[in-house]
Amino acid sequence: MPIDTFKHKGLRKRLCAELREKGINDEAVLAAIEKIPRHFFLESTFDVIAYEDRAVPILCDQTISQPSTVAFQSQLLKIKRGEKVLEIGTGSGYQTSVLCELGAQVFSIERHKGLFDNAKRLLSDFRYTAKTFLGDGYKGLPAYAPFDKVIITCGAPEVPQAIVDQMKIGAAMVIPVGNEVQEMRLITKISDTELKTETFGNFRFVPMLEKRKF
Ligand code: SAH
Repeated sequence: MPIDTFKHKGLRKRLCAELREKGINDEAVLAAIEKIPRHFFLESTFDVIAYEDRAVPILCDQTISQPSTVAFQSQLLKIKRGEKVLEIGTGSGYQTSVLCELGAQVFSIERHKGLFDNAKRLLSDFRYTAKTFLGDGYKGLPAYAPFDKVIITCGAPEVPQAIVDQMKIGAAMVIPVGNEVQEMRLITKISDTELKTETFGNFRFVPMLEKRKF
């Protein structure tokens, strides 16, 4: 395990101040980011930039989202303790840890074995009880549905219907939709046939890949 020094803690405080300036005001989200040592989720060469607001490469040609994006998606979801949250794109496991700190019961899917193994080990080192799955996020997790909240952390060409079907009535999904650039959407399931969509500007994520591209 790496070490969480006073310097790292100081840098996290500074990062949280920066996130506040960028419009993050959910105290629970800020507390989670201040608590979780993000550098544990990165290769040691990136230790020095772990608390800058930027995306960083992780295994398998993927990236850990920048802290302001993690905070923004988490804030949009307004998670309450005990809620069942489906996450697509475990990646490093950092966003998963933020959801755990918010008190969510997390079910997270990752398609890359290397990332899945790494995140599973880290999450258990931190004693987080998130359930992790290796597989295709497009299908969601019908066996564990319905969910209160859904977070997609890769760029989806469209909103996956299978996942909408696994949301409770009243549930919310935060999803970046698009190919090169994605529009952040907050989708609320009003009824079995009706969705409400709110949009929150453009972001850039690694793509959500379909089964045939595995
Ligand atoms: N939230 C992550 C960032 C992940 S980057 C973190 O905090 O580190 C997006 C992740 O989505 C990548 O790891 C990628 O492998 C994964 N991904 C892409 N398409 C997927 C799919 N169809 N099913 C599951 N995971 C997928």
